[in-house]
Amino acid sequence: MSQQRSLVGGQVFRGHVFHVAGAATLATAVESLVSVPDGALVVAPDGTIAWLGEYRRLPREHAELPVQKAAYLLPGFVDAHLHYPQTFAVDSYGGGQLLEWLQHCIFPAEARLSEPEVAARTAQEFVRRRVAAGTTAALVFGSAFPHAQDALFEAHRTAGLRLVSGRGVQTVGSPAAAPLVTGEAEALELVSSEIERWHLADTGDPRTARLQVAVVPRFSLSVTPRTLAALGELYASVRSRGVYFHSHLSENDRPGDGEVAAVQQAYGVTDYLDTYDGRFLPGSAVGGESLLGRRSILAHAVHCTDAELARLAETSSSIAHCPTSQQFLGSGTMPWRRTTAAGITIALGTDIGAGDEWLVPRVLNDTYKVHLSEPGAASVALHPAELLFTGTLAGAQALDMDTRFGNLDVGKDADFVLVEPSGWEPLARNLENAHRTDDETAAEAGTLFTLLMGLHENAIADIYIQGRAIRAEPLG
Ligand SMILES: [Zn+2]
Repeated sequence: MSQQRSLVGGQVFRGHVFHVAGAATLATAVESLVSVPDGALVVAPDGTIAWLGEYRRLPREHAELPVQKAAYLLPGFVDAHLHYPQTFAVDSYGGGQLLEWLQHCIFPAEARLSEPEVAARTAQEFVRRRVAAGTTAALVFGSAFPHAQDALFEAHRTAGLRLVSGRGVQTVGSPAAAPLVTGEAEALELVSSEIERWHLADTGDPRTARLQVAVVPRFSLSVTPRTLAALGELYASVRSRGVYFHSHLSENDRPGDGEVAAVQQAYGVTDYLDTYDGRFLPGSAVGGESLLGRRSILAHAVHCTDAELARLAETSSSIAHCPTSQQFLGSGTMPWRRTTAAGITIALGTDIGAGDEWLVPRVLNDTYKVHLSEPGAASVALHPAELLFTGTLAGAQALDMDTRFGNLDVGKDADFVLVEPSGWEPLARNLENAHRTDDETAAEAGTLFTLLMGLHENAIADIYIQGRAIRAEPLG
């Protein structure tokens, strides 16, 4: 019998299921929240979701499948912005705000990956942290060094995690950044060869691949108009293959010498975004192809003008919102109401290592706090469904992969995490003893809020991608 079962395949996961169903947006997240207190998620042998509903209504054809219990089931978390070569640079002291932190803490740390042994150790640790945090899909800022990117992609292929990444391109920089800088021709050659080597390396099809590549200039200050023109040409030639574009935008607006001011001075553009939009010549004149589009994700966007927000929306580009990082570097707060009102998909990024939390719900915790603290009418108390949406389905939408994962709709890949609050006693005790209203909907929202706000890695029991448990290799 058991042999027959394993031949038939499939498995039932039983627990309290939360997800934001369908093709929800931020505006419809609350009404799209599904909560099934004694739920069953049926995973088909091909790793897709065959059925979801109340356990007592489990269809007869699934009744013989093995059942694994967990306290809670959530969709896998999507981290839309974090830096692999900064894995060991989390909580680095001695920087201050963005440009000084890059100079004093980050460029030296990233340069260490020039040693293959350091790169291998960093890639292994990066995968371990992702598995521990239940981050099933991620858009990852890469290393400058091709051998380090090979180590990253290999480690993800071995683990079975979803990865979009590209080497960090720098063609200008200070002496501290020198180990990360290449000439323009070499930069182009390295980006092209990474695309050929790793884009869709597992299945060859952007609709099914777990491994995909992005074109990733660190930010406008690390490249030149000529580099942006060349990258624009390259990107135009690979767009149809599903290659991504990823960079930073308007993170630090310190008057005079902050990032935004420096970009305007270096390029003579009106808006920072113009540099990624082909308009990188003085006066924001057109100098090449735009890098914006459906698979373009810009991290931060804290200080955007109305014109920039409108252009991001018009091009279907997305924002990776990183409030934990923004607090660490004193970058300010992305105005939630104004940015979301522009109609842009806002995904969540841990921004490791300026962010110092690997767990997406820890960043959702900061998201809730910083936006409630916005001044006056800008203040917003986000609903737990909006938080869950931002950490899961919005990330899948930003990555243009929401038909494959991001929630627990039947037919999607079974990407989910099992949560056992007993792994983190304060959370477990809170969930057991908290006061809840008699209104069932409000009580379930209260439970989800407590779960997301109080979650720690210790309570992530298991993570699944396409129905298969993902395990990190033991430390070597
Ligand atoms: Zn970043």
